Amino acid sequence: MFRGMPELPEVETVRRQLEPEVRGRRIERAEVLDQRWTRPEPPAIAEAALAGRTIEGVDRRGKYLIVRLDGGAALIMHLRMTGNLLLRPAGSAEVADLMESERFGGPRLYESHPEARHLRARLTLDDGSELWFTDARRFGHGVVLRDGEIEEYFAARLGVEPLSEELTAEGMLALASGRRAPLKSFLLNQTGIAGIGNIYADEALFRARLHPLSPAGSMRLEHCEELRDGIVEALDLALEMRGSSIDDYRDARGERGSMQDEFLVHTREGEPCPRCGEQIRRIVISGRSTYFCPGCQRRLRARPRRRRRR
Ligand SMILES: [Zn+2]
Repeated sequence: MFRGMPELPEVETVRRQLEPEVRGRRIERAEVLDQRWTRPEPPAIAEAALAGRTIEGVDRRGKYLIVRLDGGAALIMHLRMTGNLLLRPAGSAEVADLMESERFGGPRLYESHPEARHLRARLTLDDGSELWFTDARRFGHGVVLRDGEIEEYFAARLGVEPLSEELTAEGMLALASGRRAPLKSFLLNQTGIAGIGNIYADEALFRARLHPLSPAGSMRLEHCEELRDGIVEALDLALEMRGSSIDDYRDARGERGSMQDEFLVHTREGEPCPRCGEQIRRIVISGRSTYFCPGCQRRLRARPRRRRRR
């Protein structure tokens, strides 16, 4: 079972850590060690597009990290299931050992620094620090786009940012209107609201007291207000905790987040609900483990459709 993939709070934590460290740094060398990382583009094209560029800043959109470069381009990365973006300071043991193993070869490095085994891409910056994209399952992705292509790239993939003014109860009502998909699936759909995944969908629905199987289109404005507040609360708390580390996720410094200790329902099957004491249940919706309280999360009925007379 795959759980705990990076979502908005995890990606935003990495962004906040990276931005002050890499802004203004020049990329001396770019190496893509796994051709799947840039697919369908060959790694050499991405490497050439990155080398020599100066990093102007690090942004985030949904679950994507955007490293803005001078000359009107950006490196856009998605961590997917098990990706991590790690900043290795100049002179750190990992960087020194990697350089040594390149000179002499041999698997010694992997014993002392297991994350190096999953190194997929590596940027060497002008102060000797390195950005490592590691990824055990290799679904993570990186692409270099021109500024003019970026808007279109995201327009096709992402909806509103939940921690911005864009997320309103009225907007959510319009988005959900007529949709029979369960609320859980509605929240996982990145083209509606961006950045929410399996963990924070469960945590937001619990806070809003909404059953994950309720049809999205059954929400009234007051439900949308509660759901918006639930989303914002769950994401804000997770940012404060520097994300959730259920399994692979580490922040840019290689450290675990602690949001997993704050989960109200996610991964808490069989435990008492912190609100009403009923046992938390696990069901599967759209192939994803979904945790909720049957005692206090209301199952909304589909809006009645007008029946035709015979
Ligand atoms: Zn409950």
